[in-house]
This record gives sequence, C-alpha cells and structure tokens, in this order.
Amino acid sequence: MNQELPAPIVNPDSQAYWDGARNGRLMIRKCKACGVLHFLPRYLCPSCWSTDLEWIQSSGRGTVHSFTIIRRAPLPAFTDRVPYVVALIELEEGPRMMANILGEDALATGIGDAVEVCFEERGDGAKIPQFSRRK
Ligand SMILES: [Zn+2]
Repeated sequence: MNQELPAPIVNPDSQAYWDGARNGRLMIRKCKACGVLHFLPRYLCPSCWSTDLEWIQSSGRGTVHSFTIIRRAPLPAFTDRVPYVVALIELEEGPRMMANILGEDALATGIGDAVEVCFEERGDGAKIPQFSRRK
C-alpha cells in the first residue's frame, strides 16, 4: 500500500540525508565555518554561505512547532491516509523540518508536543523520516 505513495527524490545535495534515513538515522547539515545547523539539505550554509559543511546525526527528538490536519488527499495515493497530520517539527538541535505525525494518536497532536523520529518505508528500501508523539 505504501509503495503507491511518492518515493523520495534524491539529488547530490540530499543523498546523505536519504542514505541516513534508509539506515534509521536522521541526518542534518552543520556549517563548519559558523557552526549553524540547518534543514533542508543544501550545498551551502544559509547563514554565512560557506560551502564547508558536514553531516551530523540528529537525536531525532523534537517538539511540534505548528501543525495542520490534511482532510483532502493532494494525490490519489494519499486517499487512504486522510485525515493526517503535517507538522513543523523543531528538532532538539534547533532546525525545523516538515513531516507527518504518524501513530494511532496522531490526530490528537498539539503544539508543543514532544515527538520522536520514525521511518516510514516507501518501497525499494527508501524511508521517509516522519515523527510520532512521545509517550
Ligand atoms: Zn555558516
């Protein structure tokens, strides 16, 4: 069923991010020049424009900064999934990223909820970093 959902589109800037996800790790970028951590993956630092970046592994923990509930499927493949939660997650390390909140209690998501990364399979071993509410 999940194979019908879109698989990640990998490019050279995001290769390590998707490779990390396949191995159950949430990877984020760190600038070696100014120390700023950022998401989403790109080849230069959004703070100082340095190209001297490295990958670090996030703890995978964060809080819900904002969220919305999707009630109308954006593509036919999402029809079985609605309603579902799209959230802006603030990672423990600072950067914010968009993801779905998964799990039976996902629709009870609230701002400030503690969440933890989980990895949703999308066929061919590809995995998407998503989040679930921490108990
Ligand atoms: Zn920088």
